[in-house]
Amino acid sequence: MADATSRDHPDIIEMPVLGMDCANCVATVRSAIAHVPGVTSVEVYLATEKASVKLDRSRVGTERIRQAIERAGYRSPAPSGGPNPTGGAAAEADQAGRLGRKALTLLGALFGMVLFAVVVGEGLGLFAAVTHRVPRWIGALLALALGWPVWRNVVRNALRGRIVSHTLMSMGALAALAVGQWPTAVLVVFFMRVGDYAERLTTNRARRSLKDLAALAPPTARVERDDHEITLPAEHVQAGDTVIVRPGETIPVDGTVLAGHASIDQATITGESAPLDAEPGAQVFAATLAQLGSLRIRAERVGADTTFGQTLRLVEEAEANRGRTQRLADRFATWYLPVVAAIALATYLLRGDLLAAVAVTVVACSCAFALATPVAMLASIGAAAKRGLLIRGGLVIEALARADTVLLDKTGTLTRGEPELTDVLPLSTLDETEVLRLAAAAERDSEHPLAQAVRHAAAERSLPQTPADAFEATPGLGVRATIDGRTVSVGSIRMLNGTQPPDAAETLQAQGKTLLYVLLDGAAVGILATRDTPRTEAPAALAALHALGIHNIEVLTGDQPAAAQALARDLGITAHAGLLPRDKVDAIKRHQARGHTVIMLGDGVNDAPALAQADVGIAMGAAGSPVALQAAHAALMTDQLDRLPELIRTARRTMRVVRFNIGFTIVYNIIGLTLAALGLLPPIYAAALQSLPDLGIMANSARLLRPPRTTAPHTRRDT
Ligand code: ADP
Ligand code: MG
Repeated sequence: MADATSRDHPDIIEMPVLGMDCANCVATVRSAIAHVPGVTSVEVYLATEKASVKLDRSRVGTERIRQAIERAGYRSPAPSGGPNPTGGAAAEADQAGRLGRKALTLLGALFGMVLFAVVVGEGLGLFAAVTHRVPRWIGALLALALGWPVWRNVVRNALRGRIVSHTLMSMGALAALAVGQWPTAVLVVFFMRVGDYAERLTTNRARRSLKDLAALAPPTARVERDDHEITLPAEHVQAGDTVIVRPGETIPVDGTVLAGHASIDQATITGESAPLDAEPGAQVFAATLAQLGSLRIRAERVGADTTFGQTLRLVEEAEANRGRTQRLADRFATWYLPVVAAIALATYLLRGDLLAAVAVTVVACSCAFALATPVAMLASIGAAAKRGLLIRGGLVIEALARADTVLLDKTGTLTRGEPELTDVLPLSTLDETEVLRLAAAAERDSEHPLAQAVRHAAAERSLPQTPADAFEATPGLGVRATIDGRTVSVGSIRMLNGTQPPDAAETLQAQGKTLLYVLLDGAAVGILATRDTPRTEAPAALAALHALGIHNIEVLTGDQPAAAQALARDLGITAHAGLLPRDKVDAIKRHQARGHTVIMLGDGVNDAPALAQADVGIAMGAAGSPVALQAAHAALMTDQLDRLPELIRTARRTMRVVRFNIGFTIVYNIIGLTLAALGLLPPIYAAALQSLPDLGIMANSARLLRPPRTTAPHTRRDT
């Protein structure tokens, strides 16, 4: 990853935030930064440990933000210039200090476990009670020493008038000490730290899936400069550089192959592991693997601008798109502490049982509520990105899981998007060759699949390339350009402005062909007929959608009804033809107004407004198309329709894990609090069980790191 502060937006800065081990911490840091005057908005990321702050530069600087972070109890080290910020000696001292702390922690853990065994043994009458012979002040010292970080954190927060989840528990520990139960006090603080550790493990697990993803890009690149080969950090390569990749190496940039042959495994980008052959002229992507051959590549996009870099950033930022579940859980977590405090107080006042009240304070940590959702979402989003499925946040996962309507673009989505020119029909004195030559010239700068078909046909007939000026494309309509001083337009029937097309056009359309009209200075001079074939996997993909209970499937297309209907009939779905981009948006709105959750699958470039309007806009074949990635809520990196059902299955599975996480935490808390309040759960057991929800969440969410059991259609729904 490039330097975190290098994003070029003038009013957004990114700062590291270290020490956030729990989702509540995110809320704390967020509000601390948001309260700094001059800050417009702030997003804090648990997984990447950073804050992205939008601010008014004239009113506030980095330093103020850093202070706010530190005052909230977290660290924000200044970004260092050199690769080795700490000198050798300092690093060594640091190393020694870390070792020392590790040894102390281990000793403390050992002591805690032995003490727990002794107290349990005493309680069960296995041996004579020994702990009461130890003076209380020694117990107090032990509790202080063993729980040092906890006490410090609680006091620090208390001084700023803040109550944290440990505040209540440490009050419980103090109460136990006050009534002479020093082993209980010591064990409560001991298990508080075990709980912290469990939480840290859980958070790290969530972080790991993103770190694993980031690690797929090579850190360095071999570049040719003045006939020399030099090795550079990958983000220092410049567009236009010649990059050299040897067999077995990962490609560091997006670019075009200049020389050499290799077989390329693009699984990191597309999830597709069948290798592709790359020869001169081929497009290659950063983070893909070159096998069996060397390549010389002209770098076109580097670092964060590569397809992989973009994916990575979108995945990192996905955390900010919190869904409803997470917002609810966050709100619940803030209510949780006062509720527990009230139950503890009531237990003490009504039942006079101080130890039961202590047990209530320690039985559960509010953190599990806050972690239940993001841990699962992050694991799932990270794992999906590795399979070529990009999901931009929890909000998207929720909508995907809920969706009951799928709308598809036709050209390039439902069809292969590689139309062929089948007929050229002159309508004036110009002959076939002239019509095609003019059309190809006008289409020279268009990325539309139909434009490619026209250019391809012209090239096949070795027609001379004609220069064109003043190129202009209208999405859903066509293109216009100036050629030899005259205006040439190519596009849909709408270009005719209501003039009747010739009868021959109908014959061609009845064959399911898409027609392009060629106009010279506003007068129709010819018709080009093209044919596109549906993707081979389309029937299976649609069947898989039906199997998922999604029966409302429609094609939205700018093509004419005859061609669209022919295709839709074959696939057993409905078609809406003759739509301009804004008509597609209206069609989506109509479904939404009827209460449907709509997925729109399109090509991202042409369909950006429709993708934005849908509850989930999905760009297909997004690899190598940064615009498409930006426009959509989710993306299939490859051109494979059957990845859509896989994406939906992934989302549903994630929601099942999230619901289980939350359900488990709620049930655990209700049972725990009830038993504790009734005095049926001694404080030391309550404390020992405290990290159970965290561990449960971690284990359950780890399931999402594995791909879903089946990606094939027809098979039963995965559970
Ligand atoms: P779809 O909705 O099927 O993907 P588009 O909205 O991309 O189709 O385009 C709709 C129609 O507009 C096409 O069928 C074609 O007639 C015309 N069109 C769009 N772009 C071009 C272009 N670059 N060249 C020629 N015709 C175009
Ligand atoms: Mg299209």
